[in-house]
Amino acid sequence: MKIDILTLFPEMFSALKSSILGRATKSAKLSINVHDIRDYTENKHRKCDDTPFGGGAGMVMMAQPIGSAITAIDPEHKAKRVFLSPRGRVFNQKIVEEYSKLDGILLLCGHYEGVDQRAIDLFIDEELSVGDYVLTGGEIPAMAVTDAVSRYVDGVINKESLKEESFSSGYLEYPQYTKPQEYCGLKVPEVLLSGNHGEVDKWRRERAEEITKARRPDLLEK
Ligand code: SAM
Repeated sequence: MKIDILTLFPEMFSALKSSILGRATKSAKLSINVHDIRDYTENKHRKCDDTPFGGGAGMVMMAQPIGSAITAIDPEHKAKRVFLSPRGRVFNQKIVEEYSKLDGILLLCGHYEGVDQRAIDLFIDEELSVGDYVLTGGEIPAMAVTDAVSRYVDGVINKESLKEESFSSGYLEYPQYTKPQEYCGLKVPEVLLSGNHGEVDKWRRERAEEITKARRPDLLEK
């Protein structure tokens, strides 16, 4: 899986070099490439944004550097080109699974007031939101999408871990415990120490149902 990220702030993506994703990219199961949109501007001062036509606050990212970057990075339009935007389809586990089947994804991060609509009309396949709130830029949403999709790429994490997780099974996850058996007077449920796998599975299923019913009954309706 190849993920190309286009941003005015490439330094923000150093977070993706740590932990599981850092290891996965080193072993080449996954390729994550961060591109600086500023490298594609035709403006001699490397300017990539300007004031909005019609007036209003803030700056708008110009279409030219974005168009030139996208056509240079994905000349044959092989990747799904996604613009992170509060106006987009709301990201969820179904979309994670859908995207993980693709060979490539290109993620465009907006910043400031947003992006010239012509860049979206000409070069973008889908707008994707990470929720009903507004962030300063698309960089954190792009990291969330990259992280969630990468987990489904073969070999990045153990397939068993994906099976029983919140959302994949239709339920939120059951409570997890590790050593010690008692902490601040709270004991690990006896059944988890019993060695009886049937009983453990039953307990986990019941707790998952209980938690989902209490916190996200909408998931059960689906
Ligand atoms: N003026 C825009 C509006 O009202 O919809 C908000 C612009 S926001 C300050 C700057 C950029 O952050 C957006 O272009 C987008 O790329 C990103 N962004 C902000 N909130 C987001 C969200 N909920 N999901 C995805 N991207 C988001």
